Amino acid sequence: MTSVLQQVFGRGGGFRGGIFLPPRRETTAGMPVQSLPPPSFLCVPLQYDDGPPATPCVEVGDRVRGGDRIGRADSPDAVDVHAPLAGRITALVRVDSARRTDIPAMRLEISPDQAEQPPTPLRVPDDWDGPGLDELVQAAEAGGVTDDRASPAGLAALLAETHRRGVRHVIINALPGEPMLTAGAVLLDDHLDAIVRLAGWIGMAVGAEHTWLAVDRADGARLRRCRIAARRVPLGRTRRTRMPAPQETHRAAPVAGATVRLAPLANKYPQHVPVVLAASIVGVETPPGGTTLDVGVLVLEARTMVDLATALAWAGHEPVPMTHRVVTVTGPAVARPGHYRIPVGTRFEDVLRHVGLRQAVRRVVDGGPLTGRALGHLDVVVTKHTSGVLALDRATDRVPEPGPCVRCGWCQDDCPVGLDPQALLDLAERGDVTAATAWHPRACVECGLCSYVCPAQLPLAEGVARLKRAVSCK
Ligand code: SF4
Ligand code: SF4
Repeated sequence: MTSVLQQVFGRGGGFRGGIFLPPRRETTAGMPVQSLPPPSFLCVPLQYDDGPPATPCVEVGDRVRGGDRIGRADSPDAVDVHAPLAGRITALVRVDSARRTDIPAMRLEISPDQAEQPPTPLRVPDDWDGPGLDELVQAAEAGGVTDDRASPAGLAALLAETHRRGVRHVIINALPGEPMLTAGAVLLDDHLDAIVRLAGWIGMAVGAEHTWLAVDRADGARLRRCRIAARRVPLGRTRRTRMPAPQETHRAAPVAGATVRLAPLANKYPQHVPVVLAASIVGVETPPGGTTLDVGVLVLEARTMVDLATALAWAGHEPVPMTHRVVTVTGPAVARPGHYRIPVGTRFEDVLRHVGLRQAVRRVVDGGPLTGRALGHLDVVVTKHTSGVLALDRATDRVPEPGPCVRCGWCQDDCPVGLDPQALLDLAERGDVTAATAWHPRACVECGLCSYVCPAQLPLAEGVARLKRAVSCK
């Protein structure tokens, strides 16, 4: 529960709602990315979020190399799946991720001589003219690249959809999100040039008029580096802006979206959410249940630029599919907190074994303190969307003790999309999905802020999310 002073002074500035979270010294800030040593086996999920599963394209007993495709996307919303490391497929299994239970996966016994490969350095040559939309889509498709927030489907489908519908703005989100999760900032520092250049190329490829890099305006040093990178990026005068039909040739068009402009924003939580970014930067309101594409804005995460750049081919760089995830592993119970590059399909148990525990773990969370999901067991696997691993001890694991609503109105004041979480929780508890529709639960961005600020510790965010799913399925 936040203090009264935080409640009073944490508001103001930027968009409607939201709060400035109390400043904290992050244990992992500025730490370099290290590779997690290969575990003895992986269970690589064939399905992400709400998308359909990929179809296995190797047999049990087959040997695979790191980067080989093992799951084929047979529908537009599925993504290709690749073996993160060399080994032998030993079974088709079912696993749990933090977001879904009982999903199909491939068990991959890792070859004993398999050493963890360091990530490919991303030095995009200055004289490279950059990819057109078709190359971006092909690289995203072949590399199984996904974006955390923009879509459960892969990035390839999202880029193609963006181009089909047309957008005026592309926003690349480089803001910190939840407290404690600092991997995004480290990736930004390590790959700033590649991120800014990819941002410009995507802006041009989808025909956007403006391309923005959203950064924390209070972080002067990082802001300066971003400004320098944006100025330094060499971009051509013309660029291909659409995917051609097979018989067509590419059309050169005047540069659009080529200049990446900085959007320095107050890091008020949850400024990093796409609909809030679109409102803050462009001043457009996304309709409840819609996406920012509905209002002509494509929002992507800065770390997606790194995955896409890695999956692209250029002189001296072989394309590498998305097989690992850079994750912040932290929390009071962790002996060696840091940023770890983890093969997708690694069990949380193996992650915790490597980082070591200095005291008994009370709870393990996938994600951050506001929106993370507590795990029921440690066989849950790391996916392409895992953003953090928090191991909490007895002292820091706050078990809510809900009391009666005191009608303070904080949940409603702070909700970034103007919902009334208390009324929605009431409806969720009564199971009144029909009446709930008029209260627009589908607009909820699942930021967790209502639960965070509630002095009565009511499970508001869970209730609204439940209602959102029920209304969406109606
Ligand atoms: S979780 Fe949903 S209802 Fe709660 S503050 Fe965030 S957007 Fe509003
Ligand atoms: S649900 Fe919580 S935050 Fe909302 S009005 Fe009641 S006590 Fe206040």
